Amino acid sequence: MNSTNQKNISSKSLSKAVGMRSDYCGQISSHDIGRQVSVCGWVGRRREHGEHLAFIDLRDHTGIIQCVVQGTHGLHSEYVVKITGTVSPRPEGTSNKDLATGEVEITNCEVEVLSKADSPPFSISDRIEVEENVRLRYRYLDLRRNKMQHHLRMRAKVNSLLRHSFESQGFTEVETPLLWTPTPEGAREFVVPSRMKPGSFYVLPQSPQIAKQLLMVGGLDRYYQIARCLRDEDLRADRQFEFTQLDIEASFVTQQDILDFVTQAVIDVVSEITGISIESIPILTWEQSMELYGTDKPDLRFDMQIVDLTAIFKDTQIKAFQANSIKGIKVPSSCPLSRSKLDNLVAKAKEMGAKGLAWFKAVDSEDGVVLESPLAKHLGELESKALIEAFGIEPLETILIVADEISLTRNILGNLRNELGEPDPEKPSLCFAWVVDFPLFEGFDEDGNLISGHHPFTMPNLEDFHLIDSDPLSVRSQSYDLVLNGWELGSGSIRIHRDDIQSKIFSVLGISSEQAQERFGFLLSAFSFGAPPHGGFALGLDRTIALLAGEDNIREVIAFPKTSSGFDPMTQAPKPISPQQLKLLSLVPIKDEALD
Ligand code: ASP
Repeated sequence: MNSTNQKNISSKSLSKAVGMRSDYCGQISSHDIGRQVSVCGWVGRRREHGEHLAFIDLRDHTGIIQCVVQGTHGLHSEYVVKITGTVSPRPEGTSNKDLATGEVEITNCEVEVLSKADSPPFSISDRIEVEENVRLRYRYLDLRRNKMQHHLRMRAKVNSLLRHSFESQGFTEVETPLLWTPTPEGAREFVVPSRMKPGSFYVLPQSPQIAKQLLMVGGLDRYYQIARCLRDEDLRADRQFEFTQLDIEASFVTQQDILDFVTQAVIDVVSEITGISIESIPILTWEQSMELYGTDKPDLRFDMQIVDLTAIFKDTQIKAFQANSIKGIKVPSSCPLSRSKLDNLVAKAKEMGAKGLAWFKAVDSEDGVVLESPLAKHLGELESKALIEAFGIEPLETILIVADEISLTRNILGNLRNELGEPDPEKPSLCFAWVVDFPLFEGFDEDGNLISGHHPFTMPNLEDFHLIDSDPLSVRSQSYDLVLNGWELGSGSIRIHRDDIQSKIFSVLGISSEQAQERFGFLLSAFSFGAPPHGGFALGLDRTIALLAGEDNIREVIAFPKTSSGFDPMTQAPKPISPQQLKLLSLVPIKDEALD
């Protein structure tokens, strides 16, 4: 999303200045002319006129005000000062239209230096690009820049809107522990050694999943939390070791209720932050999403739906089209495909596992639209006609076709669609969608056990449960994802609260009852005391806020993120601890060979 779509997260709504100052820099205007004011902040740009006069831009979190200072006072960039003076109109012809305070300046200034400052490693300006490592090393300086100020304030506003929305929907905020025990999300975990119980460890939560289910057993009814989660996974632009999610759980609800709660919160947040009003969020089944968009996180800002062509080619003579699944997409004329671009796409499709990628270009002829391609002469007349009809193709448009197993045709065309599609200006800039009815299982592991698609507490769709032994991969789950512009923002499910179903799921997942007892015994035991039917959802806040802020990288909306190798250039963490600390924690470094 374009950041210009955002409403201004205005600092004008801040409370009135108190303490050492009477006003904030960015809020002084011509209404204040003649007033005596005190402002505090950092020295920005300085223009000195000899030894007697200097123009100083004083900056705080609300903006900049120009101060006309007699004498230089030895001021340098980023000195922290308090300036007391009179608000005056700027002399004729010197006002600055680009500055909110550009009509006025502070004159007759008394300057008090509160802190001196070394020269900063980069200048505090939005116009200067600074290498990310340097920004992270001096994050506190980077935070002084407008963009970071805006993003962090917007983040706080989103949190506050979410709190308000869920509270008004009857949810109660509960904090769950950070020092915890393994959770079932399936990622690698961070562990914390126990000093009091040598050789034992806490596990930092991958999510509050189990704790929130226990809250339901505890009768909390509707819980939410803006929760910090930790997963020791390789980092990418959209991942950090620690991330924040809006986590909810509710009792005595159906899947539709959870979708409604979250939809309401999304509507509340988006309208307040962007001014865009969303009436509802469309729901696609996983099957529809895969069939039409080749992915479970479709970007609905453009159409380019995948069309199934299997029936058209069921008796084809074209060898390359003799396959279980034949699908295609139509690339619009606004995305012209030259021969070299097409060769490139063919190579990409092959890299993704396709045997090939067929293409047909529509051109005008005396007989109407015809298809051109090296393969065109092999197309039967009926096939050609049916293809033209299936896509309603117009001259200059191109059809791309993949023939293979269904999972491949979907996947490859889904990727090509994402690569070639451009947001349609007629469609909303924020296209949310719910994807529901995910398969309960992803496939089989090497021991022949089923692999859970979500986590082992996900409730199957009870209509399909009888297929669990005969055709387990066709069993749908009561789970759902929220998607925005091709990104998965969050996911959730209705949980299993019935003993019989849970034991069956553990058994097909290859989790023995001893293992289940050892890993989740406390949850199962809690359930034995009366578990309400319940379900929940978690929304990845870093990614949601990055999308709302028009940023590709979540580090832009996190105050103190780590680099992609998990390093913090500012604190230098992670770093070794002293032998004394190791001893206190009963930790002994061991060599790799000792593990063999
Ligand atoms: N615990 C899940 C997650 O973190 C979300 C949920 O099912 O509520 O992805």
